[in-house]
Amino acid sequence: MSYDEELADLFTTNSDALTVCGACQWHCTLAPGEMGRCRMRVGTASGLALLNHGLIAGATIGPIEDHRFWHFFPDSQVLGIGGWGYATVTDQGRGPYGSIPDDPTKRRKLDADRAANFALERLCRGVVWAYGEPAVNHEYVRGLLQLSRASSRYTAIITTGAMTEEAFDQIGHYLDGFSLDLRGFSEASYARLGGLPNWRGVLAIAERARHRWHCHIEVTTRIHHGVNHDPEELRALIGWIKSALGAHTPWHVLPGDAGSETAAATMRARRLAHELGLHYVYGAETNQQTRCPSCQQTLITRNNGVARIVGLNGAACASCGHETKLHTSMYKQQQQRESRSVTE
Ligand code: SF4
Repeated sequence: MSYDEELADLFTTNSDALTVCGACQWHCTLAPGEMGRCRMRVGTASGLALLNHGLIAGATIGPIEDHRFWHFFPDSQVLGIGGWGYATVTDQGRGPYGSIPDDPTKRRKLDADRAANFALERLCRGVVWAYGEPAVNHEYVRGLLQLSRASSRYTAIITTGAMTEEAFDQIGHYLDGFSLDLRGFSEASYARLGGLPNWRGVLAIAERARHRWHCHIEVTTRIHHGVNHDPEELRALIGWIKSALGAHTPWHVLPGDAGSETAAATMRARRLAHELGLHYVYGAETNQQTRCPSCQQTLITRNNGVARIVGLNGAACASCGHETKLHTSMYKQQQQRESRSVTE
């Protein structure tokens, strides 16, 4: 496949004059013509060429809830967009967005400014990077988030958390929502279900999203019986969500395969999360309500893909005043960032 000369800017050159990519945990070291692990970036004599830049793997308009953001601008329409490539080894092999189509007529190009304008014209309230790993599409995602925020759209990404801190800090300022695809909570689970040099690095990125950039965070885990269903591992995972991100962080617990043992393990994981004090635990069903953890008043209903806010006053429970921490305003986050920069 030929590639255009769109160059990455997040790289260094080592003492052997090889290019070292700085977008994700792999830090691929590439000679000219050599392809990175994601198969989307190629070393050149002058840096790093991007095979996937501006090539769109999918684009849809629909409710934000379709992307498993359930406490983030509920009942709003969003442009979901994504590109090609993964950082996780298991997805590079079999994920749906792992390879750019060979057929040129199936390659769709959409520049970031046109995508941001499209969201505005279609009256989408936000833009979410929903397909493929954002780290592997770093330069495009950064442009898309910047332009979308400039036109007052909210922004979000769905990610495995595989990006480097340096890459994340380039987008953090423009990012409102962060959905972490958390594969498990052990080296063994990540070896089977992810494949990254440092699985704990994804936790550090999520904590950075929460505490440095004040992003709204939701976590999704797919349970696979025999891989990541062990109660002790799940206890540690839930404990991390609670202590590092907060008990109000929504956890979406889905069956990772169709087996009956996995279905039972998924239900057990949900029960465990409730017992250990997570306030908002959701399964795969689409018709789930959000209730106030304090007085049990229904806050949001979801029926057949339609979400309705029924018991909120701003982000507080309309019945008892409990602060739910639902994310409904870009300005609140901006204020947090500004007050943080004043105190730094
Ligand atoms: S994005 Fe990650 S996998 Fe791809 S070339 Fe860069 S470091 Fe390697």
